[in-house]
Amino acid sequence: MRLDLREILVNPAVRLPFKLDLDTERLVFPSVKAYDGAPHAEGVVFNEAGILRMQGTVTARMQCICDRCGTEFPSEKITEVDATIVAKESHAHPEHFVLEGTEIDAGEILETCFILDMETKFLCREDCKGLCPRCGANLNLGPCGCRKEIDPRFAVLEQLLDKE
Ligand SMILES: [Zn+2]
Ligand SMILES: [Zn+2]
Repeated sequence: MRLDLREILVNPAVRLPFKLDLDTERLVFPSVKAYDGAPHAEGVVFNEAGILRMQGTVTARMQCICDRCGTEFPSEKITEVDATIVAKESHAHPEHFVLEGTEIDAGEILETCFILDMETKFLCREDCKGLCPRCGANLNLGPCGCRKEIDPRFAVLEQLLDKE
């Protein structure tokens, strides 16, 4: 969605609210299997002493895949957006967005904020036990049948017990 900021450029007292659903085409992550509907963004653009700022939130409901155990789990992610928009490319810090004439591409800015905020680790729960390296069983569901790693000092004893 393109937002024309002409009004707040000339009249700094005006606040420009926005509401839009994001396109998920760019929002592809290996651990996100699907979105439950389009991520929803809303907020306001305003002129703070000559600096244009976009503030708001992006709310996304997703089906994720746990990095440790591979289980699918639902997750809701809320990204706080606070973006600065500057008039000319030459004035832009890498984290600033540039005005195109008097317009911005609101969707593109919000998608970029969402991508930068995306976590690098996806876990079904904080203490996910993962999969057994031997049999592949999901250890969150209980211990698998595999024998525990044996301390080499006890290996001899283990052998003796096996003979019985
Ligand atoms: Zn897990
Ligand atoms: Zn096992």
